[in-house]
Amino acid sequence: MAPLNGFLAESDSIAAALVESDGTIVEANEALGRLAGSTLSIHEVVVPAQGAIVTDLLAKAGPSWHSVQAGLVRQSGDIVDCKIWAVVHRERILVLAEPLRTPGEKLNALLLELNDDLLKARRELGATNRRLRELDELKNMFLASATHDLKTPLTSILGYAEMLGEEELSDEARRMALTIENSAHRVLMMINDLLGAASIMTGELTLDRRPTDLVAVVKDAVEGIQPAARAGQVTITRSGAESAKARVDERRVLQILDNLLSNAVKYCPHGGLVTVTCQDQGHAVAITVTDTGIGIPAAEQQQLFGRYFRASTAVGVGIEGTGLGLANARAFAEAHGGSLTCTSEPGVGSTFTLVLPHG
Ligand code: ADP
Repeated sequence: MAPLNGFLAESDSIAAALVESDGTIVEANEALGRLAGSTLSIHEVVVPAQGAIVTDLLAKAGPSWHSVQAGLVRQSGDIVDCKIWAVVHRERILVLAEPLRTPGEKLNALLLELNDDLLKARRELGATNRRLRELDELKNMFLASATHDLKTPLTSILGYAEMLGEEELSDEARRMALTIENSAHRVLMMINDLLGAASIMTGELTLDRRPTDLVAVVKDAVEGIQPAARAGQVTITRSGAESAKARVDERRVLQILDNLLSNAVKYCPHGGLVTVTCQDQGHAVAITVTDTGIGIPAAEQQQLFGRYFRASTAVGVGIEGTGLGLANARAFAEAHGGSLTCTSEPGVGSTFTLVLPHG
């Protein structure tokens, strides 16, 4: 491009100037002289109140055209509304101004500007969204790999603590082994809660449904929680059907039961009772976990299954938790087409009911 040569130099209707980034005019065609008086600085030819618009236009000028609408002041003092364009040309900026003759043209120019702004805002929003999605993916990857790496050593701590508990030990050493086993089990549950929440949030929750005897799964879950129950001096009893079959993802159901049982034990004072029942209801299997623990205030029961929610009764007595377990458990139950509900009374206890269709 050769600015201010040929067409631009001779143009009658388009004012053209080559300017420095501060607006100083280096070269101008005759149309600019005719349209506005001065040819010293681009700021001197626009309506003073609109100087900032031009400064902004010059600052934004790049390899593609930018435009604004502003008034140019004639020598006579009249104002001519113009569409002003700018593009970077070598070290300078080429500025073109074209008078807008009809109200329709002026409106059009305004709409175009508005459109430019909207497009720019959309582009920026798109870029921000992309960045957020990247960060979210990064967070999920980090969570998955960190939790996976934690699980491996933790599983061996749990295994050895369990084996240690079976050795001939003094009472003191047995108590220590039990504490190690319990604490490791709690950390493992937290990791599973985090992994479960991540799989729900990323929409990657899939079920591997197979015919399963839920009574056997309940037995496994009760067995797994016994060390914590012994440590908390809580007694667990089991009753109900001898067998109750359904097509479920055993791993997920075990996770639900682990959560319900560990909560029942965790939120029970010493000497508390936990009762687990399993009944075949014909079309579904219902499992209940009842405890004689601290309970949940009626006003808070609605929020109980919300992610990160912790009841005032638990927070009040300083029992730790993530508030993720029940949200996960309900999502796992619902993924099976089932439900998880609760009834509770502070100071009396709670009952959680898990219903899983035969599938
Ligand atoms: P947390 O890790 O905090 O136990 P959960 O999602 O499993 O998370 O439970 C959410 C909240 O519900 C708990 O913080 C506690 O306030 C309440 N809660 C759950 N189970 C019981 C229960 N059996 N007895 C009393 N409160 C319970």
